[in-house]
Amino acid sequence: MREATPSLADACPRCGSEFLLGSHFCHSCGGRRPEALSASAKTDAAAVAGLWVKIVHRVRSVVTGIPWHKVKFPSWLQYLHFHEIKSRVGLSTGSLIAFVIGLACIAGALLVGLLTVKTLVDWQAIQFYRAEWLLAATAAFVAGILLKKNSSSDHD
Ligand SMILES: [Zn+2]
Repeated sequence: MREATPSLADACPRCGSEFLLGSHFCHSCGGRRPEALSASAKTDAAAVAGLWVKIVHRVRSVVTGIPWHKVKFPSWLQYLHFHEIKSRVGLSTGSLIAFVIGLACIAGALLVGLLTVKTLVDWQAIQFYRAEWLLAATAAFVAGILLKKNSSSDHD
């Protein structure tokens, strides 16, 4: 590894030609030579990617581990014509629940956007909350897709 010294980028981000040894500007297009991604930035990106894979695996294992066909719903749910919706939409129970959760998360993201913003810090915080809501929505939809695949292969 040659990460000990603060390394510079190997190739020009503008034109793609390789930088000459020790040069600070591109010999081809004259662009400034940027610093390469630091080792810590690289490991951060790898950690985030690893975390995402872990979350997807976790969601999948939790979702597929639940015996959905055995789940009994409280009677008040029948007032929502849950089973009617289910058969009409053609989704399995699990993926319908995941779909509803996903919609709720998107609604949450939109509602957060309606909060009055006074400062830039507020705005940044809201963007952060929004990203989390949308991440949750994505996870719910992924779960729904996985459930749909499962149920169609089982002929549930
Ligand atoms: Zn260049």
